[in-house]
Amino acid sequence: MELKFYNTLTRALETFKSVKEGEAGLYTCGPTVYNFAHIGNFRAYVFEDLLHRTLAYAGYKVKQVMNLTDVDDKTIRNSRAAGVPLRDFTATYKQAFFEDIKTLNISPAAVYPAATDHIKEMIAMIQVLMDKGIAYQSEDKSIYFSIEKFPEYGKLAHIDRDNQRAGVRIDADEYAKDSVADFALWKARDEADGDVWWPSPWGEGRPGWHIECSAMSMKYLGETFDLHTGGVDNMFPHHEDEIAQSESVTGKKWVNYWLHCEHLMVDNTKMSKSLGNFYTLRDLLDKGYTGREVRWVLIGTHYRKKLNFSLSALDQARETLGKFSSFFARMKEITAAGDGSEAAAAVEQASAAFRTAIADDLNSAGATAALFALVREGNRLADTGALTSAGAAKILDCCRDFDRIFGCLDVDAAPVAEEFPAEVVAMAEERSAARKNKNWAESDRLRDAIKAAGYLVEDAPGGVWKLKKL
Ligand code: AMP
Ligand code: ZN
Repeated sequence: MELKFYNTLTRALETFKSVKEGEAGLYTCGPTVYNFAHIGNFRAYVFEDLLHRTLAYAGYKVKQVMNLTDVDDKTIRNSRAAGVPLRDFTATYKQAFFEDIKTLNISPAAVYPAATDHIKEMIAMIQVLMDKGIAYQSEDKSIYFSIEKFPEYGKLAHIDRDNQRAGVRIDADEYAKDSVADFALWKARDEADGDVWWPSPWGEGRPGWHIECSAMSMKYLGETFDLHTGGVDNMFPHHEDEIAQSESVTGKKWVNYWLHCEHLMVDNTKMSKSLGNFYTLRDLLDKGYTGREVRWVLIGTHYRKKLNFSLSALDQARETLGKFSSFFARMKEITAAGDGSEAAAAVEQASAAFRTAIADDLNSAGATAALFALVREGNRLADTGALTSAGAAKILDCCRDFDRIFGCLDVDAAPVAEEFPAEVVAMAEERSAARKNKNWAESDRLRDAIKAAGYLVEDAPGGVWKLKKL
């Protein structure tokens, strides 16, 4: 199965070819553990999961590495504001993150390296940059990367060299494109860092954010690997700086394919913690929504398109997933005998459409359309009485196969027992008793009363009855 991805580095759709045959190395910038992740962040992680699952579906042995940023400007700022030591402060949010990705059925990465466990590797990289004369120490003892020494600086975010202010320094982890400058690799210990510091050949201090990802990715995936991802806001400066550091150290191309997902928006504005316009996953669970519903909304829009988030989209997801569940239950109830050939064409078509869609730059919306088509056709065959149990089994197998990517259909989940209002159940019981006594007038009256309450009562042999919502 040939996969095509839109590579940010070349701004072109490219056929994926891995460094090692049959294996795919994937680095995904993980959470900065200073707060609960919001669902904008989860849009990025679910997109990365879709990529991971698609590579696995296509037969690659996937090695995904997702780092945990547990030391940077934001984690230090918030832990100090809370008066909690950095390690304890970030531990809370690391744990919350793992709970949340489980709720969203995100397939686990092979390794989740934490920045504070890799200071040694970062120092070693900075040392190479110092030895090569690419990094330098400023008056305040911090170490900076000289962008002038890396002629390809700006190749990912497409920054004009004319706009680069070589020799001007910036020490913040996050900064805008109009302040392109030499960036900090190692920040000398200062007042604002409190007791967060490590010894280094250049004095006490802590790493800059960008060097963390360079050091951790190369440790686990090697000097050149296949894919690196994140949200579009990570493209500059984070990923640009990661490339500059990594390629300056090794002299080799670092990453072959860069994939970036667009933002999750609220009222046409990026969902972000600093703007306060966010929902955490927990906020949505508190409102009664489920991880499956959130996941379905997040995968419903192609990752390179902006996704406007609303609660009504979650309501719609509930309805859609409910329809799928009823469909799976219906397929399981089909008992007619036969070889199942009546379903073969529908399954083949849906399967081909699904594979074409996901192989085309993770076209999840197209994959969804293939599922809808299969459900429509399955229902049509069942309506006409043409569907056999073997045919229904083929359809269900195809849905199970699709769920290797969707991860939220739950084809084999136990059907949720529907709850009916007590007075409706009481009327149904009375009606059943009336029928036993051949009191047809009373039985009809109760049937109408049940209907007026919004339910349908159906009879099965042996005096058994079943309620359905109208
Ligand atoms: P952070 O914890 O801020 O480093 O962000 C973690 C990931 O979430 C990064 O890949 C960001 O690019 C991504 N991200 C942040 N906000 C959004 C958003 N509104 N929509 C999509 N991705 C986002
Ligand atoms: Zn990163």
